[in-house]
Amino acid sequence: MINKTMTQFGENSSVIRELFEYGKKRKAEIGADKVFDFSIGNPNVPCPDEITETMVSLLRDSDATQLHCYTSAVGDNDTRQAIADYMNEKYNLGVEMSDIYMTVGAAASLTITLRSVAQAGEEVIVFTPYFPEYKVFIENSGASCVEVPVSMKDFQIDFDELDKAFNEKTAALIINSPNNPTGAILTEETLKKLAAYLEAKEKEYDKEIYLISDEPYRELVYDEGKFALPANYYDDTVICYSYSKSLSLPGERIGYVMVSPKAKSRRKLFATICGAGRSLGFVCAPSLMQFVVGRHQGLTSDISAYAENRELIYKTITECGFEAVHPDGAFYLFVKSPSGDGEEFSERAKDYELLIVPSDSFGMKGYVRISYCVSKAQIEASIPAFRAMAKSYNL
Ligand code: PLP
Repeated sequence: MINKTMTQFGENSSVIRELFEYGKKRKAEIGADKVFDFSIGNPNVPCPDEITETMVSLLRDSDATQLHCYTSAVGDNDTRQAIADYMNEKYNLGVEMSDIYMTVGAAASLTITLRSVAQAGEEVIVFTPYFPEYKVFIENSGASCVEVPVSMKDFQIDFDELDKAFNEKTAALIINSPNNPTGAILTEETLKKLAAYLEAKEKEYDKEIYLISDEPYRELVYDEGKFALPANYYDDTVICYSYSKSLSLPGERIGYVMVSPKAKSRRKLFATICGAGRSLGFVCAPSLMQFVVGRHQGLTSDISAYAENRELIYKTITECGFEAVHPDGAFYLFVKSPSGDGEEFSERAKDYELLIVPSDSFGMKGYVRISYCVSKAQIEASIPAFRAMAKSYNL
């Protein structure tokens, strides 16, 4: 019999993707330059030349049977060692290659991790607004997704709200800093408070509670020193990483799961990650991409283009009279709907050929997300459209 839950996931496709598809259709109808697509987080800055050069030289100069072969299920050892070395040098983490499981991007990292630390009858906390796929990945593990609103004043964790939601069924929490869709970064103070809170809860319930740190935007930080690595504050942390955004390689599907070396059940947890990867069919991430990222730890795309876009889009939007959160990282701007209704805002924007995502699918009403990983020219060309829309709200 067909699995009804999966049918539902398939039929209720993501609002972001729907808008993206609408954009493609609209561009074909009226011309690509007349549609201002701010819907999807597809990096527009190309991957660094070094990545292309390494791919070409690997393809040209390697023994093809070795290059395209299966790596071990957990991934290539040299790549895992290079990642461990980088994380130790940059964050003083003390991680080993044996804590790292290579994956096809953060989506797989999250699916594997959730499958490892949560199950039917348990709950996983997410902080609203959140990346909509979390709910799908959590439900795939059998657990339920519990939404906890962040503090709207600074987009940090609201500990009173967290405490209201926390109970004996809580198995894990997902955090995402820098954040999609707000661009907010969790401060060191928040992470310390969260660690103390979770340690107390581990004692109270006499079990491990996992912090899943989804970090695809870790390198997309505009002010030096703002990002703090959650695994350095709380021991039972699992990092879910991806090169989709930092190296502009979303279609190549490469990332990893990293168990904190301080996790209480470090080895058993890693064995569980391997088991989940195996059972989900996520073994041996693409070998070519593993070899490429392994050779370029610490390299990122030119994020200065996003930094420029951040200022331009923020200025445009706020000068129009809209209220927005000034983003510290990632490439999203979270804007308040003047009508208080995010869906209405997104629908109205279509009249001006502006494609922006309502916040409802991020588990929060009343906002829209503008994805500014687009060309500067697109932002500049869209300014009259934003102004006209602002006028329609009498701003
Ligand atoms: N987590 C967040 C917060 C994201 O924004 C995305 C993609 O946009 C992902 C995970 C999935 O990333 P990947 O392309 O590596 O699967």
